[in-house]
Formats: sequence, structure tokens, C-alpha cells
Amino acid sequence: MLFEDTIAAISTPIGVGGIGIIRVSGKETIEIVDKVFRAANKKSLKKVDSHTITYGHIVSDSGKVLDEVLIMLMKGPRTFTREDIIEINCHGGPVPLNAVLMEVIKAGARMADNGEFTKRAFLNGRIDLAQVEAIMDIIESKTELSLSQAVGQLEGNLSKKIKEYQDTLIQVIARIEVSIDYPEYDDDEPITNDFEAELKDLLEELRELLRTADTGKMIREGVKTAIVGRPNVGKSSLLNALLEENKAIVTDIPGTTRDVVEAYLNIDGIPFQLLDTAGIRETEDIVEKIGVERSKSSIEEADLVLMLVDSHVGLLDKDQEILEQVKNKHVIYIFNKTDLENNITQEMLETHFSNGEVIKVSAKEQSGLNELRQAMKHFVIKGSAAVHNEATISNQRQKQSLINAIKSLEKVIDAIELGLPEDCLAIDLHDAFGHLGMIVGESLKEEIINQLFSRFCLGK
Ligand code: GDP
Ligand code: ZN
Repeated sequence: MLFEDTIAAISTPIGVGGIGIIRVSGKETIEIVDKVFRAANKKSLKKVDSHTITYGHIVSDSGKVLDEVLIMLMKGPRTFTREDIIEINCHGGPVPLNAVLMEVIKAGARMADNGEFTKRAFLNGRIDLAQVEAIMDIIESKTELSLSQAVGQLEGNLSKKIKEYQDTLIQVIARIEVSIDYPEYDDDEPITNDFEAELKDLLEELRELLRTADTGKMIREGVKTAIVGRPNVGKSSLLNALLEENKAIVTDIPGTTRDVVEAYLNIDGIPFQLLDTAGIRETEDIVEKIGVERSKSSIEEADLVLMLVDSHVGLLDKDQEILEQVKNKHVIYIFNKTDLENNITQEMLETHFSNGEVIKVSAKEQSGLNELRQAMKHFVIKGSAAVHNEATISNQRQKQSLINAIKSLEKVIDAIELGLPEDCLAIDLHDAFGHLGMIVGESLKEEIINQLFSRFCLGK
């Protein structure tokens, strides 16, 4: 074991319900808890089997009963931290819960820091860094899909893939080293012929994985969506229709100068975060209220733009201006008011709307909304691994390491194509290997680790 001391913390949210769990982990766990616990069957915890539950009371050193508890005892290494763990299930509410914790501390445990249990699990090799981040995501996930993505990562989908990639590199490195050490085995063919194709395939797979990064981020944090269009095209009406049918979460964020309202739209588990939604509650215009500048910046920030056009009025100059602003974005064009006579010609359609999908709706009659939702969903998941619960890259740190690995591998392939000697490849191959390792947290510096774990809540 790496750690000398035994740590303890309340690992359930305080003040929620009457039940709480105190988690103790470390090599003296059993000894410490045994000092403060009286089992109903009088048995010492030292004689209790692993992975069993014992009923009894926590008693202070003056003999006072603090709470009636269930003790779940799990001996390492088959535990989350790989150390001996005891979970004390209390049911007396926050006051006795704290009293029990204090008693455990008095008996020799130390109060755990934020995330310290997870940190021990990581440092004792129980989980890798991608899994640590997955736990963080599970705690913070907004929808079921982001939850299942995080669970997939916790199960090690990403870690398994990375190991496979590293394996490929190891094989290649080994072959190169053999040919350097035993040149007599060399025939006339350059050995790079053996693995050039293999490395190119690997590079393609890494690039594919990199493409999951943005999807992963959107699924976890919400797809930033800007709704734009000139006044009176029906933005407010459409928004209301969407929000109402989807029971969107609309939350006030107090303490801001303006009354900001944040709206989330949940489409089959994918969270869409509506940008700059000041005044959604009052069903007023986003664009009109926040002014042209803000609307421009929300277009820039957006992952996805929904641009509305009034199909009855047809195209005006003001529409053309907005078309210009969104032309480089992922955009879904929404032709609204299709319950009225259409005044958008086939020619306009072909000239102005060819760079995005066109969905015809009537906010008034609530038609076309399903098609719109499908198009929004499709934008996120098209061909993406994330929804199939495969390996995905889900944060900036992983993404940067992957980019570095790709760069190193590109150098290797360039060198092969230039016909450079084998030993020139080795350094970049090793680099690629190392950068891949960074994704799952091999060879991470201690400060980075500490900073990461301090973001956890206490007791995790
Ligand atoms: P915004 O300025 O873009 O937010 O547009 P509003 O949602 O305020 O709508 C402007 C006007 O168009 C209102 O009178 C709406 O009732 C009307 N409107 C919105 N959607 C439709 C629609 O699908 N069909 C018809 N006939 N009228 C609509
Ligand atoms: Zn309006």
C-alpha cells in the first residue's frame, strides 16, 4: 500500500434525508472502527468476514450510544481504493452523523481531503485517469446520455482502446530495436515495409477518436444553440413550442445584473443549451432584446445555429444579412409559418440555403417540430461513437494529449516515407506512446493529479 494513514469522511450529501454513510479507508480501518463500534452479536470487527454487513451501535469513549448503524466491511484489494474500507451506514440525521465521524477521527483516522478516496483508487492502480474523470462526469452529468457516456468511460472503454494503440506501438518499437541490435537478421527489404500500413491505420484511428472529442463535450455540457432570425419570423413562438413540449429546464441564475434565464432543451437525452436566452420567460426576442452585437457573439459561440425565416413573407434584406453571418456555421434553416402561403421560390432555396438542412415548420400549428428535433439530434450524433457508448474523448486534457500523439505519429510516417533509417523513428514512436499514456494518466505530474482531485466533493 502507498498510504500510511487512514482517512474518513461523510460520503453522502449532508442534510438530504435522514441516512448518511461515513466511509473509512486505509490500513488501520478495521482497528479504528472496531474501537468505536459495539456489534449486537458482540463480535469484534477483526473477526468479521470481508464483504459482509454487521449490525450494532457506535459508542463514544464515555460510553454514550451515538447512533444505530450497519457496518459494511470490505477488505482490500477488492475495494474501490484497494485498501480496507468500512462504510458506516448511519440513520440518525446530520447531528449524530457528525458525532460518529468525530468519534472515528478521535480513534485515529484523519479527515479526508476532497476527492481523496478517488485519488487513492487512482494511485493504487484501481482506476486510471480517464476513469477518474468519468466519476467526476457522473457526479455532474445533466442527462441520461451524458451519464451513459461517462459510465462507458468508467468501464474503461477509452482505457482499453488506448492500451490497444500502445500495444501496436510497442510491437513496432520492438521490431525496430531488434533490427538495430541484430543487424545480421536484416534482409534487403527495409523493415519499415512491415509496419508502415499498420501505423497509417493507427493514425487514422487516432484521428477518428479525436473527432469524438467535440461530440463528447457537447453531450456532457450541452450543445450551444443560437436561435436567430429577423424580428417577427416566429423565434419566440417556436422556442415556446419546443420548450413546452419538452418540459425544458429553465433556471434563474440569481446575482447577475440582468435577470439571466438559462434554458436547456432535452432531445432524446442530448442537452441543448439555448444561448443568450435573456427574457425567454417573458417570451421576448433573443435577438431584439440583446442587440446585434450580442447576437453576433452568440452565433460565434454556438455549436449549432437555428436560423428562422418567414416562408410567407419570403426573403428580405435583413434575412440576407443574417444569412451572411451564419454562413460558416453548422446551421439548420427553419422555414416557419408554413400554414400560410409559401413565398420562397425554388431558386431562393438553391441559392441561399444549400449549406444547411431546411426544415419546414409552423410554430402556430406546432407542425414540423419532430422533424426539427430529429435534425438537431442528428447534427450531434451523426456517425458518432459517443452514442454507441464506445470510447470517446471527453475533455480538453485528453484531447491535447491525443493531438500530441497524432503529431508524433505523423512525424514517424513522414520519416518512413522519406526513407530515413529505422533508428530515427524510435524517438517519435516513444513520444506517441507517452502521449497516449497521458490520456489514461500514466506518468502524470503530481500537481496535476492533486489539482484534479481537489475538484471532487468531500467523501468521493
Ligand atoms: P419573433 O419576433 O421572431 O420572436 O416572432 P414571434 O414569435 O414574436 O412571432 C411574430 C408573429 O408571427 C406573431 O404574431 C406570431 O403569432 C406569428 N407567428 C409565429 N409563428 C407563426 C406560424 O407558424 N404561423 C403563423 N400564421 N403565424 C406565426
Ligand atoms: Zn418576438
